[in-house]
Amino acid sequence: MKDFVYNGLATRVIFGTDTLKQLADEVKRLGISRPLVLSTPHQNSEAERVADLIGREAAVIFSGAVMHTPVEVTQEAMKVVEKTGADGLIAIGGGSTTGLSKAIALRTDLPQLIVPTTYAGSEMTPILGQTEDGRKVTLRDMRVLPETVIYDVSLTLELPVHLSAVSGLNAIAHAVEALYARDRNPVTNLMAEDGIRALARALPQIVRNSLNVEARSDALYGAWLCGICLGCVGMALHHKLCHTLGGMFDLPHAETHSVILPYAMRYNMKAAPEAAEKVARALSVDNAATGLRNLTREIGAPLSLAAIGMPGERIGEAAVQAVSNPYWNPAPVTEPAIRALLTDAFDGGWRD
Ligand code: NAD
Repeated sequence: MKDFVYNGLATRVIFGTDTLKQLADEVKRLGISRPLVLSTPHQNSEAERVADLIGREAAVIFSGAVMHTPVEVTQEAMKVVEKTGADGLIAIGGGSTTGLSKAIALRTDLPQLIVPTTYAGSEMTPILGQTEDGRKVTLRDMRVLPETVIYDVSLTLELPVHLSAVSGLNAIAHAVEALYARDRNPVTNLMAEDGIRALARALPQIVRNSLNVEARSDALYGAWLCGICLGCVGMALHHKLCHTLGGMFDLPHAETHSVILPYAMRYNMKAAPEAAEKVARALSVDNAATGLRNLTREIGAPLSLAAIGMPGERIGEAAVQAVSNPYWNPAPVTEPAIRALLTDAFDGGWRD
């Protein structure tokens, strides 16, 4: 056994079907008496349901969460916190709503209870990305790590098939990079491999029947494990590339992860053979990168950057930006190699 450091993060997790009914008890457990309930405009009815479960007179709803956590939206929500004297946060939704909760927690240190409804995994990390003046800046701070997470499989049944597919691949990307992280360790390795296995098994079943509760349960379990991996160890080329492309071209978050993942795996395969072997084993295939590509195709996720709106004439510029801040990656990160990766990913062509 090689030497390692494992930094466990303490979040209370309740996992199951119809677990939302435990919400009021969990809110009490956190000592929250006047929660601010957060959602996107699209999930306002979920926020209403949460408010009903706690007691209408106690809860205040803010349904203004949007993608990429813009600071202006956080400031608007902060005014509601101050005006109502909220003493805790409840977020119901995907990574965008969790992001707003974390942004408020960063400024107030209020306790957070998160009810995730996608597979993004943000609820298990002390990471927050905020956008100001068109720039997304990511930070790590223990104040943003949620105190309690309630995973309720029944809330994911309505997650549209396309979103389920791309969000699931977003989760798998956390685990793939955890397997070759510089600070990888035996515990996150176990979680990463099982997370990939659970999602890879569940996603094709969900695409065939989105109401398959067992598959939904496996996918949410996998997403939880992958989220822990993201929170515990450092990410590399894949996440940096997605961050660069998302910021430069305002590409949709999970879709960008779906397209880049097989190419990032292919880029790192030779330099990280043990990780590639674990990914392949989790997918029950011989070649990790091709296995990820086939999974992406099978579940109908986008296969090229062109398909999700990247302007082809700016590949060179993106490659320059992607290598401008050096970061650790198993294979050396050079501009020509990244340009080649992006050219392939733009066209969506594939070779083993
Ligand atoms: P999202 O939260 O933006 O959700 C997309 C849309 O789907 C929203 O309109 C949402 O209301 C809706 N939706 C969510 N769950 C639904 C459900 N069950 N049924 C129907 N509609 C539903 O998307 P996301 O991919 O979950 O999150 C993306 C954001 O999360 C990005 O900003 C990304 O940077 C961030 N993120 C952060 C971390 C972290 O650790 N900080 C990790 C992963 C993602």
